[in-house]
Amino acid sequence: MWNEPLNILHRAFAINQEQYLDQDSIEKLQKKRLKKILNCAYNTEYYRKLMERESISIAELEEDITLLPITKKEDIKSSQESFIQNGISKETLRIFKTSGSTGIPMEIYVDKEAFWHRIATNYHSEMTFGRSPVELFAHITVMNRAIPVHQLLKKMKIFPVLHLPITNGEEKNLAILQKSKVKMLRSYPSALNILAKLNQEKDKPLKVKSILSGGEYLSENSRKSIEESFSCPVFNRYGAIEFPSLAKDCTEEKKLHITDGSYLVEIVDKKGKPRKSGTGEIVVTHLFNKSMPFIRYSTGDLGCWGKKCSCGRHSPVIRSLEGRESELIILPSGKLISAFSLSLLPLESAFAGVLKYQIIQEKEEILIFSYVPMGNGMNEKTKKEIKKIIDEVCLGELKVEFEEVDDIKPGKTGKLKNFISKIKTRVSK
Ligand SMILES: [Zn+2]
Repeated sequence: MWNEPLNILHRAFAINQEQYLDQDSIEKLQKKRLKKILNCAYNTEYYRKLMERESISIAELEEDITLLPITKKEDIKSSQESFIQNGISKETLRIFKTSGSTGIPMEIYVDKEAFWHRIATNYHSEMTFGRSPVELFAHITVMNRAIPVHQLLKKMKIFPVLHLPITNGEEKNLAILQKSKVKMLRSYPSALNILAKLNQEKDKPLKVKSILSGGEYLSENSRKSIEESFSCPVFNRYGAIEFPSLAKDCTEEKKLHITDGSYLVEIVDKKGKPRKSGTGEIVVTHLFNKSMPFIRYSTGDLGCWGKKCSCGRHSPVIRSLEGRESELIILPSGKLISAFSLSLLPLESAFAGVLKYQIIQEKEEILIFSYVPMGNGMNEKTKKEIKKIIDEVCLGELKVEFEEVDDIKPGKTGKLKNFISKIKTRVSK
């Protein structure tokens, strides 16, 4: 009866130990796991064809994985079945749907072992950030993204969790949280930012032990204002449906460490060559999902390697996750600007009178700053400041219009996007 929960906890402890392994030991472990996953990959139509086309053997790839061309999301989307190992029935696997925040939603098939591993990585990061088996933990998310709770643990009230639908809106969720005995929160930075603003205005602001942020880029400005509002540290986690807990902050220095016993991570240049410095695309090999292997899979996210951390973990540090590559502002001159630049707009102090906002590129020459007011609303001075920042980012090529709205709903994935382009189809990635 206790098999599954014990297996999950056992894995969580193993993940914990692996982050302290020295270079030699972790490389040995990665090599052993890579060998298994490469054999599984050879048993899929896609990777076998790719290895044959490039005339590369499994033994050669074990020595140098970068010999294999990068797999893009489009490759999987166009032939999903060819990524599943021959002889494995889809009915025996769990399906996870990706959010499609890069415009390409997909279905990911996960076997039992990878599923347990997925749950274990979750428990591990939450426990690292202070989650206790007896304290209430609140997860604000889209309900179909809620992490499954083991029935046995639920019955025993171990690791109790309060799932709050993000569609409730922040006012309602904050009211529920204040009535509960919640000790830890987990959500997207966009939702946490709004919660923090509302919390700050309360006579008795809610205080918790720690907050786990993930699913979107967390700026240092946002981290600071959420920390101040809830009087606790905010820890960041980076991952995706395909790669849960790819990296997470250490509690000592809040640097994002790769979960390197579970993933091989590269940062590559435009030609797909790994780079040791500078920003590039994050490419991942999953060392666990044998039924649907991902070898050198491009996440579509940008990042760069950080300096070695002094916390005692040997796992590499990644930083500057500059949003999704496909989120681009198109200027009339034809120049493309990463929408990440707009996330530098301060969410807190300078935007007094704004609860939430979204910038929409409606037409090629117009950006609409759509916002939900709070308190006395936004004044002309703030509007001027916002316009000035946008002009700097967009080289003064775009006209900025302001639009006051009653609400801005998060997208299907629960994330509130700060930038939306309605002319995205014209961008070739
Ligand atoms: Zn560290």
